Amino acid sequence: MADKNYDVIVIGAGPAGMTTALYASRANLKVVMLDRGAYGGNLNNTASIVNYSGFKDVQGPELAEKMYQGSTQFGAEYAYGTVTKVELDGDNKRITTDMGDTYVAPVVVIATGSEHRKLAVPGEEEFGGRGVSYCAICDGAFFKNKHLIVVGGGDSAVEEGLYLAELASKVTVLVRKGELRAQPVIQDEAMKNDKMEFVYNTSVTEIMGDDVKVTGVKTHNNETGEDGEMTADGVFIYVGNVPLTEPFKDLGILDDKGWVKTDNIMQTSIPGIYAIGDVRETPLRQVATAVGDGAIAGQQAYQYIKSHK
Ligand code: NDP
Repeated sequence: MADKNYDVIVIGAGPAGMTTALYASRANLKVVMLDRGAYGGNLNNTASIVNYSGFKDVQGPELAEKMYQGSTQFGAEYAYGTVTKVELDGDNKRITTDMGDTYVAPVVVIATGSEHRKLAVPGEEEFGGRGVSYCAICDGAFFKNKHLIVVGGGDSAVEEGLYLAELASKVTVLVRKGELRAQPVIQDEAMKNDKMEFVYNTSVTEIMGDDVKVTGVKTHNNETGEDGEMTADGVFIYVGNVPLTEPFKDLGILDDKGWVKTDNIMQTSIPGIYAIGDVRETPLRQVATAVGDGAIAGQQAYQYIKSHK
């Protein structure tokens, strides 16, 4: 199949990638956003966003749709495909997807984000889709008036736990340490919710179930060393994220945990390759920071192409 030529290839159509597409296409560059799924990225798994400027409270999928409309208004294209290979070809970069397409451009912007980390305990794979979930907005409705366990102590665990508490009869959050990591304002809200219960110093060692679905978890108390069991109808796991950087691992641009290293203009150590949003080594991963990164990369793409003409 013939190469598809662009000025800028954005890999990933979440908030970061869509913002780069907006800025670069508005600067008259020919831009394509490649994504292995629907545009919007993790916005599609987020029920309510109250800390993105301009909105009091916005649903993730609604914001995704608005961002997509904005990002494509100056001609940026969206194409489906999972990137399998990135090759350097002189000043150009050659991107291959599992659809058999090859995209070529002088500028590539990596905006692939991250995905949920697995708990890596017995039963997690087996009961996937049968009571084990990583997405409250996708699966919460299956658990109306049921008892749910949430694993984790960060912002996602507590916020998504609050969302689940609107549907479930009770939400028990299992926290492996003696305290939560979530922001105080989110913790305060959860502590006030009668349906939320926090159990500290407790790790999940196994997810149990019958022939049909999850029935509970096996636990280990990290303070007393005691093992126990807890019954539940579903287990939602929010134990952090891992970067989606597999196709870039041979480029020498990742840190030891797999996040992409950039300078303050979002450029990696390879001229013309930028990284933005959650996939980047960064102290804060939010929609607002992703959008900021995306704007910088879009503008830098323009500067890079202008200076290489
Ligand atoms: P985090 O990495 O912030 O937190 C992960 C949590 O999971 C920690 O409590 C960690 O415990 C726990 N954990 C990790 N591994 C295990 C394990 N094997 N068993 C049990 N618990 C485990 O991830 P989040 O998804 O919560 O957040 C990711 C990023 O997104 C953060 O930067 C966060 O601030 C941001 N975010 C912001 C929101 C907002 O501003 N409204 C909403 C959601 C996310 P420990 O503390 O012991 O390491």
